[in-house]
Amino acid sequence: MTKILKIAVIGSGTAGLAAAAQLKKDGHDTQIFERFEEPKPLGAGLLLQPTGLACLAKLGLDDKALQYGAQINNLYGRSANGTVVFDISYRNLKPHYFGLGIHRGALFTILYDEVLRLNIPIQTGCEIIDTNIQNDQRFITDRNSQEYGPFDLLIDASGMRSPLRKHGQIKLEKPYPYGAVWGVLEDPDQKFGTDYLQQRYDGAHVMIGMLAIGSEPHCNKKKCTFFWSLPPGGYEAWLDAGLDAWKKRVIDYWPEMEPFLHQFKKPDDLTFAQYSDIIMKRWHEDRLVFIGDAAHNTSPQLGQGANLGLADALVLSETLAKHADINAALGAYTKARKKHIYFYQIASRWLTPFFQSHYKLAGLIRDLSFGLLCKMPYVKTEMLRTLAGLKTGLFTHMNPGDWHKKYDLKKA
Ligand SMILES: Cc1cc2nc3c(=O)[nH]c(=O)nc-3n(C[C@H](O)[C@H](O)[C@H](O)COP(=O)(O)OP(=O)(O)OC[C@H]3O[C@@H](n4cnc5c(N)ncnc54)[C@H](O)[C@@H]3O)c2cc1C
Repeated sequence: MTKILKIAVIGSGTAGLAAAAQLKKDGHDTQIFERFEEPKPLGAGLLLQPTGLACLAKLGLDDKALQYGAQINNLYGRSANGTVVFDISYRNLKPHYFGLGIHRGALFTILYDEVLRLNIPIQTGCEIIDTNIQNDQRFITDRNSQEYGPFDLLIDASGMRSPLRKHGQIKLEKPYPYGAVWGVLEDPDQKFGTDYLQQRYDGAHVMIGMLAIGSEPHCNKKKCTFFWSLPPGGYEAWLDAGLDAWKKRVIDYWPEMEPFLHQFKKPDDLTFAQYSDIIMKRWHEDRLVFIGDAAHNTSPQLGQGANLGLADALVLSETLAKHADINAALGAYTKARKKHIYFYQIASRWLTPFFQSHYKLAGLIRDLSFGLLCKMPYVKTEMLRTLAGLKTGLFTHMNPGDWHKKYDLKKA
């Protein structure tokens, strides 16, 4: 075991909780700082990929996730003109591969309970706004000018609006013009289906999605997460149009949604989410490391953000275990994460306009080509590897089996 480090983690989201738990298990003295009075999840549901599941397995938490979530085998997307844009199954990659649709509340509870079980202190109601170095140690300051420290290492896991990113080397920080409204729908009889992510499109300006996410802790009702893509400035227009007119549009595109939509009684039943492109030259500075959305927020088109954040947490643990010098470990961390993160940042930026933009040609190209590409064995495999969170370059991929043998890519 290397030296025991005193580590501050900013943020109790997926990345922060996973990092704090793994580093505590490694023997370090970790502490979390969270702005909310009571740590809580934000948003509806998400799709965990085999990479994310392997990370949870390494943390000893995948069985709990499987207990709550919905095993997703298939992804199906169809255009308003009837073109099937994609119809793929994780099983075509490996028979034991699947995604897991999961309620954010369930994922949060699993990680948060683990943090509590490990007796990791959480300073709540504490909005960290800055950090500095004194005598080779990190200190942090909250909104009330209270200073905390010294820490050997500071982990910024405070999400896309990180107040500490200004201390890093930012290449690009730009809001993505499109966003979406998200909500959770009950599907007690599982009429929608249990193992699908389904999407409907009209050009690239309309995208609707529905994902089975299983149930939340302490509530057995099966649920789905629903989303509707919105153009720039579209949230106000969506509010102005009124829920009934909007529901009619959804049903016109997707009649099977009719029995569910009455559950949205007021606009507040859906949450507006915006994303941004955050690209950094590296993810470390002196005794400071950026993980999760704080380091690399992208559009969620490929459903990778939480998975990348989980992988960040585990790779950080590995590099700290290998290097006695903290800054050397952080340099190794950036090097180890570079290919995986950059691939998904580039792929998301490249792909998103085909699904969320005003370019008429983008929707047309997508409808004409994606379905055909899905049928070409090589391209199909690469698409599935991309979806499964495995890609590290155009021609390279990783093996989540390195984190847990259950998710070994070589397994038949
Ligand atoms: C619409 C949408 C759909 C998505 N779908 C998927 C999907 O299917 N699959 C997937 O893998 N990912 C998906 N994502 C991305 C995923 O949600 C994020 O990448 C992931 O939640 C990021 O986790 P995080 O821990 O880095 O940040 P966050 O979850 O944002 O957590 C940050 C934490 O830090 C706290 N905090 C913030 N500022 C401070 C501060 N100054 N001081 C103290 N605490 C602070 C916050 O309160 C929060 O608890 C989606 C995202 C969106 C918007």
